[in-house]
Amino acid sequence: MLGSRIRDVPDYPKPGIVFKDITPLLADPAAFRVMTGEFARQARESGATKVVGLEARGFILAAPVAVAAQIGFIPVRKAGKLPGAVHAVSYALEYGEATLEIHRDSFVPGDRVLIVDDVLATGGTAAAAVEAIRRCGAEPVGLSVLMELGFLGGRGRLALDSPSLPVTAL
Ligand code: IMP
Repeated sequence: MLGSRIRDVPDYPKPGIVFKDITPLLADPAAFRVMTGEFARQARESGATKVVGLEARGFILAAPVAVAAQIGFIPVRKAGKLPGAVHAVSYALEYGEATLEIHRDSFVPGDRVLIVDDVLATGGTAAAAVEAIRRCGAEPVGLSVLMELGFLGGRGRLALDSPSLPVTAL
């Protein structure tokens, strides 16, 4: 049901890439509700006390999970967007490097954190988010994504640093 609401866009953002576009799913309230309910169930079952959304599509997915599961929402943003003191984690892209940031005071001792994003591809973004959360002193308890592009090996990449982190793709 969710899969039928994902649109493949060929040659975006570059020739040879097939982009998974989630905007049809976001426009369908029944599908959006199913997705949110599933992420919220995972948040409750993992005992998460906070949900982290990864800029930018992860924000759209994680914010309603926070409301449904009655836990706080924490943004992980691209460099230079957060106003307070941050932890910054850089990671390699195909060409170059990217940096993610999180407010240092995002968590209280004992916080358990579910990370939510739309797509797990190479795993670089998710691994950087895990690292950022750990630097804040909180415990990542799961990564929940809508889609996993299995051929890019993200799950294996994450298992290198975080062998016991549950990774779930709807
Ligand atoms: P990774 O770091 O290679 O795992 O890429 C994952 C990040 O890139 C996520 O934050 C996604 O939002 C984004 N991404 C990668 N491929 C796609 C896609 O096909 N559709 C939407 N987002 C994508």
